Amino acid sequence: MHLTPRDIVVMDVEANVIESEAGLRPTSECLMHIEIYKARPDVFAISHTHSLYATSFAVLNKPIPAVVYECAILNLKDGVIPVAPYGRPGTPALSNSVIEPIKRADAILMEKHGAIGVDKDPYEAVLKSAYLEEMAQIYYHALVINGGKEPESFAPEELQRWAYPSQIKFSR
Ligand SMILES: [Zn+2]
Repeated sequence: MHLTPRDIVVMDVEANVIESEAGLRPTSECLMHIEIYKARPDVFAISHTHSLYATSFAVLNKPIPAVVYECAILNLKDGVIPVAPYGRPGTPALSNSVIEPIKRADAILMEKHGAIGVDKDPYEAVLKSAYLEEMAQIYYHALVINGGKEPESFAPEELQRWAYPSQIKFSR
């Protein structure tokens, strides 16, 4: 089954359904999406997944530290992918649980549930979810190789220093 534009349910931030061409109900997790849009005015796209490795750390309520530099793209203010505390899906407890963590990072885990990536652009939001899953895989393997001992990770200040190399010259 494929998603088509007809299947997209249009809503406002008060959870009113504005348009549902195919007559579908919005996902019960739409309240969580709405809270993220309210908490982050710079965000226009949310990618929510239950990807295997990220969700495994979410099950353990274990934030993922910045073990590779690529995570600089995830804007980790505290140098970790934080975990939003557990809330039952579809309840205000769940939608409220993501508000503080999503202010600290563009990618977060949801305890005993899954993961979220956000951006102003839908493609980039999905890409951030992919980065999050990749980081979770690398962290998992680093832990296994290291006998369960925490690998070294980057300080938030080091991640914030990233800049496109000024040495690269464009002809126009
Ligand atoms: Zn979910």
